[in-house]
Amino acid sequence: MAKINRRKSRKGNSRSNLIVFATVMVVAFIALVGRLAYISLIRHDYYSELATSQQLRDTIISAERGNIYDTNMNVLARSATVWTVALAPNLIDEDEDVYDQISSFLSKKLDVPYETIYEKCKEDSYYSIVKRKVDKPIKDEIETFIDENDISGITFTQDTKRYYPYGSLASQILGFVGTDNYGMYGLEAYYEEYLSGISGRILTAVNAQGGDMYYRMESVSEAQNGYSLVLTIDANIQRFLEQSLEEAMAEHNVHNYVCGIVMDVNTGAIYAMSSKPDFDPNDPLEIYSELTQKELAAITDEEQFIAALSKAQEFQWRNKAISDIYEPGSVFKVVTASAALESGTFTTESRFRCYGRYNVYGSLYIADANSIAHGDEDFTDATVNSCNSAYMQMGLTMGREIFFKYFDAFGLTEKTGIDLPAESGSSYYTAEQMGVVELASCSFGQSNAITPIQLLTAICAAVNGGYLVEPYVVRQVLDADGNIVKETGTTVKRQVISQETSKTMCKVLEKVVESGNAYLSGFRLGGKSGTAEKLNSDSDEYVSSFAAFGPADSPQVACLILYDGPHSYSTYGGSIVAPVVSSVMAYTLPYVGVGAVYSDDELASVDVYTPNVIRSSLTYAKAQLQKRGLNFKVTGDGTEVVYQYPTGGTSIPKGSTVVVGTDESEPKYVKVPDLNGYSPSQAAALIESLGLNIRSSGSTSHMAEDKRQSIAPGESVPEGSLIEVEFILADIND
Ligand SMILES: [Zn+2]
Repeated sequence: MAKINRRKSRKGNSRSNLIVFATVMVVAFIALVGRLAYISLIRHDYYSELATSQQLRDTIISAERGNIYDTNMNVLARSATVWTVALAPNLIDEDEDVYDQISSFLSKKLDVPYETIYEKCKEDSYYSIVKRKVDKPIKDEIETFIDENDISGITFTQDTKRYYPYGSLASQILGFVGTDNYGMYGLEAYYEEYLSGISGRILTAVNAQGGDMYYRMESVSEAQNGYSLVLTIDANIQRFLEQSLEEAMAEHNVHNYVCGIVMDVNTGAIYAMSSKPDFDPNDPLEIYSELTQKELAAITDEEQFIAALSKAQEFQWRNKAISDIYEPGSVFKVVTASAALESGTFTTESRFRCYGRYNVYGSLYIADANSIAHGDEDFTDATVNSCNSAYMQMGLTMGREIFFKYFDAFGLTEKTGIDLPAESGSSYYTAEQMGVVELASCSFGQSNAITPIQLLTAICAAVNGGYLVEPYVVRQVLDADGNIVKETGTTVKRQVISQETSKTMCKVLEKVVESGNAYLSGFRLGGKSGTAEKLNSDSDEYVSSFAAFGPADSPQVACLILYDGPHSYSTYGGSIVAPVVSSVMAYTLPYVGVGAVYSDDELASVDVYTPNVIRSSLTYAKAQLQKRGLNFKVTGDGTEVVYQYPTGGTSIPKGSTVVVGTDESEPKYVKVPDLNGYSPSQAAALIESLGLNIRSSGSTSHMAEDKRQSIAPGESVPEGSLIEVEFILADIND
């Protein structure tokens, strides 16, 4: 709302009324331009004319922009009232001391250079903005200054400012608003018409002198505050995903970006979605990647700098999960396998023979990854082995029409329709464009380029009973009173494969995870890895990815993570991405109500908490430990426990041995061995022989080698201590 400081101008009373009025007009127009640019553009002449002829006074009442909430009503974006501080220089006393007084005070309060304000004081104008988005406490101080010093010519216009309390969290989904509060990116842009509300206005006609009129016309329209959005995004899952992505980016030295999506397999609701690097919507113009900051700092040419800066900004704002396409590699085999089974071209009984390469046509051979010959294998083995030869055979046998029919049915030729701006379509060969070579390479996930959201939605269809759903991030739209205005339900586009084929796919894909790095005790996950060479890239880079869903017998949650340009000990998605997907699933599944169900084998080593038995009798201590399925080793001859390892409250696998020391005895220290190169069973044998306890995670394959251990080799720890070791199967079939 425009408010003007109506002090009597000492420049002459005869002009003052008119000047005040004219200023109101100008202020109103600026507000109008800011809030409803299109109206002011179209109707500017009309209002200008009215202003001079009929003297119409128009005051805008700004509407409050709606909030954005996560699925648990945590506020992700909100608006607060702020003020635009402006000068009406023609109303300021023409006195250098007054200019100085105003400039000194405002420059301190608003952090604007003294000279800038001083120059504004001298302008021949009724409206010159000093600063936007000024908080109320500062505005109050300026008003006090005006009153105490009898200053005229400082004006305030109400505005709103957008706050994002969680900083960078979900920034690429939320987007941000421009200085005029108009949504510029993400949901802020996509749902602009819901969020913005409708400004109200007071329209008053006055006579030329601004005094009493021979007629009076006043119309008031109330401001209608914006609607709020309730997202499907869960801030906790989102935070967990983002932290995992950031860690992975650093650990695997990913040059371009990392990206991840967690979604509800059956409804299409997105729980979390992110790519890194990203930005803080409270200050979207800032560059947040340190590497990019350095690159920008090195540019000396101004034009080049501006171009590079805007490119870097766009890059950090862009939601790669929906806006960037890539060749998915072997993760795509989920689609090929579904098509092969559903079309009846192959069954799970079908057998393949792999020589490490496949004769596609004439003398043309396409090799398996690393030219490994997988030998005789059935349909499931071929998928576990990620055998390109078998998949080329599937593609070529079903033929390009059937292949393309399913490619299309799985939604890979259309946008998913997710309620976010800037979704990209895919780049693909149609049946007519596909030669034998293209069909062969498309069958194992090269040549066609799709978005991560397209791929994950297709995978959901493969495992949820065959239904291709439309992904979405806004669950509800609420009006200012909290009533539901709009609610998003599940949109099933079509059934792509039968329930039966889908069940088979779940079983096949569960086998892939059982022997790989995404294995998760207590949860039956299914999944597929992928590693695709970036054929159009200058450098020798890969996109490594992994998609998983769970539980395999009744899928609820699916997750896809990809790294564009990792430079690590491996480029295989199954090695470096699978463990991260597994930990995101481990966090998400219990969170959405899927509890762990352990097999007998898993149950034998499920974690329990050690009781604190210090200062209790040895008899009592033994009973407490046994009750929890823990073994014990006693040192010393006393009857009271004086120390224990692991200490009380440690989560430790059932069957571990807790060392309890009694009176007079001292803990024995053991040097932690280097487990690099040890398989899970070898490591367990060594650790146990040293009197330590082990908890293994990751791959259970005898081929897996240790990659991380919680306590560094060579460190001395008390006997009984727990060493956590993560095993990675490095030579994986991708
Ligand atoms: Zn093979």
